[in-house]
Amino acid sequence: MNVLEPCDLLIEAGHVVPVVPKGAVLADHAVAVKDGRILAVLPRAEARARFLPAEIVSRPEAALIPGLVNIHTHNPMTLLRGVADDLPLMPWLQEHIWPIEGAVMGPDYIADGIELAVAEMLRGGTTTCNENYFFPDVQAQTYKRLGFRATVGLPVIEFPSPWAKTTAEYFDKALEVYDAWRTDPLIRFAFAPHAPYTVSDASFERIGMLSAQLDIPIHCHVHETAQEITDSQAQHGQRPLARLDRLGIVDSRLIAVHMTQLTEGEIKLCAERGVHIAHCPQSNLKLASGFCPVEALRTAGVNVAIGTDGCASNNDLDMFEETR
Ligand SMILES: [Zn+2]
Repeated sequence: MNVLEPCDLLIEAGHVVPVVPKGAVLADHAVAVKDGRILAVLPRAEARARFLPAEIVSRPEAALIPGLVNIHTHNPMTLLRGVADDLPLMPWLQEHIWPIEGAVMGPDYIADGIELAVAEMLRGGTTTCNENYFFPDVQAQTYKRLGFRATVGLPVIEFPSPWAKTTAEYFDKALEVYDAWRTDPLIRFAFAPHAPYTVSDASFERIGMLSAQLDIPIHCHVHETAQEITDSQAQHGQRPLARLDRLGIVDSRLIAVHMTQLTEGEIKLCAERGVHIAHCPQSNLKLASGFCPVEALRTAGVNVAIGTDGCASNNDLDMFEETR
């Protein structure tokens, strides 16, 4: 007699879209799960003959897809949804977002905002996010408590905030949080320098050195607006990407967010170095920042991923809407 293999969960669907092979759509398949891991992806009839599941979820009318990954978000900002609509980036940040954040920023705001964001992300099929905000210790605790996979950003910005008062304190606290969590299976880390216009040369050089030592990504807003380029040329005599290259961080560890202003040479540089680009179309439209040249980047071989940005510049965390 055939002995059935026990598993925790069998999900049957009219169509299963696996992670690999890329582009495959499997009709009338099932996914067997045990101890939080996928045991097998196989035809439904074979699954019933092989497994003894504790629970069966049957969705013959539905497609089962992998969890979506939101590559750029500031999830505590779900609490700032709808604040200061229809303004360009700098007045939006300087006159509205930064003053409000200054007033509400703290562990409760971070935890509550992430909890709301996780509920919204799960309802929209998102199971992993790349987070970029203050209080990475509270972020890590909150994502862990909710069982949600996240890459937590270690913030660096040359302004005092309720998280850190000086540049040295941003780095010290970043490394403390990293050390406390570095072996966790659910939570990972990236350095999160805010943007070229809020982070100094010395800080970028230190981030480059540390990210290489720890082998963690650098998650940074880059070339978000035309103004950013003009200001950088006036202040540093270089476009921001060229400056970051001079400081040694334009490589495959860099996740460059927005990138609405790119020359052909910059697209080529990103392709050669393996830079990853986070494309946030709704944020770029809401703040009238510009258009990321996605097709030119993809044609050049650059990895482009989709992000919602924070809720305040979107105003939701819906990855299907973002993709559309
Ligand atoms: Zn952002």
